[in-house]
Amino acid sequence: SALNDLSVADPALEVLHRVFGYDAFRGSQREIVDQVIGGGDALVLMPTGGGKSLCYQIPALVRPGVGVVISPLIALMQDQVDALQALGVRAGFLNSSQDLETRRQVEKAFLADELDLLYLAPEALGGGTSATWRLLERGNIALFAIDEAHCVAQWGHDFRPDYLALSMLHERWPDVPRIALTATATSRTHEEIAQRLNLQQARHFVASFDRPNIQYRIVPKNSPSKQLLDLLRTEHNGDAGIVYCLSRASVEKTAETLSAAGIPALPYHAGLDQRVRAANQSRFLREDGLVMVATIAFGMGIDKPDVRFVVHLDLPKSIEGYYQETGRAGRDGQPSTAWMAYGMADVVQQRRMIDSSEGDLAHRRKLSTHLDAMLALCETVDCRRIRLLNYFGQEAEPCGNCDTCLNPPQTWDGTVPAQKLLSTVYRLQSERNQKFGAGQSIDILLGKKTEKVTKFRHDQLSVFGIGTELSESQWRGVVRQLLANNLLAVEGEYSTLTLTDGSAAVLRREREVMMRREPEKPARSSGSSGG
Ligand code: ADP
Ligand code: ZN
Repeated sequence: SALNDLSVADPALEVLHRVFGYDAFRGSQREIVDQVIGGGDALVLMPTGGGKSLCYQIPALVRPGVGVVISPLIALMQDQVDALQALGVRAGFLNSSQDLETRRQVEKAFLADELDLLYLAPEALGGGTSATWRLLERGNIALFAIDEAHCVAQWGHDFRPDYLALSMLHERWPDVPRIALTATATSRTHEEIAQRLNLQQARHFVASFDRPNIQYRIVPKNSPSKQLLDLLRTEHNGDAGIVYCLSRASVEKTAETLSAAGIPALPYHAGLDQRVRAANQSRFLREDGLVMVATIAFGMGIDKPDVRFVVHLDLPKSIEGYYQETGRAGRDGQPSTAWMAYGMADVVQQRRMIDSSEGDLAHRRKLSTHLDAMLALCETVDCRRIRLLNYFGQEAEPCGNCDTCLNPPQTWDGTVPAQKLLSTVYRLQSERNQKFGAGQSIDILLGKKTEKVTKFRHDQLSVFGIGTELSESQWRGVVRQLLANNLLAVEGEYSTLTLTDGSAAVLRREREVMMRREPEKPARSSGSSGG
């Protein structure tokens, strides 16, 4: 029959049709599959939703032996295996969540070559001495797939020490093809993956990282709950989406706010009971129009095609993280929104977290570099997509589908306000030997006789009241942009402002400071939301 001819002539296509029910390969899937079936190594960089799984699943089905998949996503293994079994694929997994009896069965099936795919957590390998490693040595292996391969890179944002042992796969099984896959890789991470996994001989497949259906928007944070409600009500009524918050407390609070406003929302963070987390995740996947409010613990490996928006209520730590999280929107190719609100308090908080983080100077420097790139994306007046793609080493044209393309931001010469603010910090330091947070400097510039201003006699400083040309929120914007550009810094437990090397150039009028003009928000009394 025609089918038999196909299975002889083109087994990969036959498996694509028969097992997965798809008509054609997508993008570079075909070439990748052929490379691995032919016994060669591959390093695959493809955005989330690009179709990485088939790149190892099909070769595992075509080649004799079991395809061994190393994946850090323990929580999803059961789902992945269930989905494969539903397609008639013989799949199993081994991880720490299993009971002994189930484990025995999987091991037996593996040794009898009665599995097509075996999923393993990286920690199970334990550096080449573990029981799992010895088990692998007794089996017949079709290929090794190393999923989320960026976890091997110390430069990246998601390093996992267990991944380092994977470099030994090559020495022990030189003839078994290896395919490493990731959705996040700057050129630096990319090189590190290749080097650490001994993939020097591998073919590299770098797909376009562009996600044209995602509209990127980054706005100043004024009153985040209200801004979020506005967005959901005006643009995403009834849509499924993810709202990322930094802390567990803000996850809980935001989920409550949404629910109270009649928007069905569920919380997800590592502090919740495992069963609650699993239940919320499966509701999000199966029901329509739910909003998942989560920390970044949520999302890796989640395949829900119709996520219409991804919101960040707090600043992500790196562009790689931001891109991976926003990439969960619009996998079905339909228009989707990546919306983020960020403010001065975000910069202060992240800089402080870096200062107090464990690890050596090199580690903190890495975190700073990641944060600076993220801030540059926030403050850019160019197309966001160009900035993003350039970060991943790709050229691009203005996209017409991001906030800066749709509403080109005006810039204004903020040199004089910058000097006023920096002088205030300087005077507090030099004349009074004092350091204060941003709020106090702004009150001084605005000439506000608050209790704290009076107590410290800051109304007698020469800078008192010299900044009334800007509103409080505009001053917060000035502080935020100075922090983002390292023209001002925060230090210590109380996040007090302090000058940087760059500040001096501004104070000496050697450097202009161009700023983004921000839409004026309606006057609000709260002022506590860190805008
Ligand atoms: P990734 O792991 O890169 O995020 P997946 O492998 O989960 O992406 O694939 C994303 C979605 O695209 C899945 O729903 C998958 O079934 C679908 N898909 C992948 N390849 C094809 C193809 N060739 N034709 C149709 N759908 C595909
Ligand atoms: Zn654009």
